[in-house]
Amino acid sequence: MGGTAIGQNNFETRSACPVCSSSTQRPFKQSSFEIRKISADLIKITDSEYGKTWDLSLCLNCSFVFANPAPTPRFIRTLYGQVEDPLYEDEAEGRSKNFAKILSRLERICPGKGTLFDVGAATGILIHLARGRGWDADGIEPSAWAVKYAQEKYGLNIREGSFEETSLPANFYAAVTMVDIVEHMSRPLEALQKAFEILKPGGILCLVTPDIKSLAARITGTKWWHFRPGHLGYFSAKSLTKLLDLTGFTVVKKKKYSWTFSAHYLFSRKKWLRFLIKNARMAFFWKKISIKLALSDSMEIYAKKDSGE
Ligand SMILES: [Zn+2]
Repeated sequence: MGGTAIGQNNFETRSACPVCSSSTQRPFKQSSFEIRKISADLIKITDSEYGKTWDLSLCLNCSFVFANPAPTPRFIRTLYGQVEDPLYEDEAEGRSKNFAKILSRLERICPGKGTLFDVGAATGILIHLARGRGWDADGIEPSAWAVKYAQEKYGLNIREGSFEETSLPANFYAAVTMVDIVEHMSRPLEALQKAFEILKPGGILCLVTPDIKSLAARITGTKWWHFRPGHLGYFSAKSLTKLLDLTGFTVVKKKKYSWTFSAHYLFSRKKWLRFLIKNARMAFFWKKISIKLALSDSMEIYAKKDSGE
């Protein structure tokens, strides 16, 4: 990776909640890694640094849990620009199944399809699928590696950069998808405001993010697998509702979300299960087996930009 000098000016302390702006907060969890050693490798999607977090604060007003200090938006952009994550594409099939289900639900709410914008598009799997289903899909991704991969594998020209800073047409998209992205952002309110702005009146936002109040989160405690260096904010139903309210969205559907992965991927995430995939034949076998993570520890929300009628 190299090259990123990490100094104090790469971080910012937050006296106000990044969702509701309240200044009443208390420490929630202490940092469990040396934040000055943060790198692109530590924040990639398939990192296995479970349990490692920034110092986290809890907002006493809306219950949002957020990194404090947090990396500045500029520093986040630099880090994600450098991310290379070949393991992500190893699970392309599993991810496609997840995204196909999301698109099916989105299409029931947004039957006319039309223009779709995917925020944090990674290697373009969702955009590629959406196009195949008749959407006019586009998106943005900060990782130069992922953008190039999407071009080579799917022939997509995904925009490279930061969603919040990119100039996009207002009142244009029928749907905006933010699947497992808002928890990586240090300023979720600004990102949602941007999503609201680019949606047409009546347009739908689909947002998926981990639920810090889920049973899985409560059971696994500080070892919860969503506690990881790439995550800068942790929502509950309460803080997510607050965020959508403040932005002007109306929730039309919510559900609990569970991911599908191959057995191989899950075993590779757990040190004590890695013996199962040590030889190539076993690894091949486990890659063919899909496992639905019945933990349902994420929230999947569909919210509408009201047409104001
Ligand atoms: Zn708050």
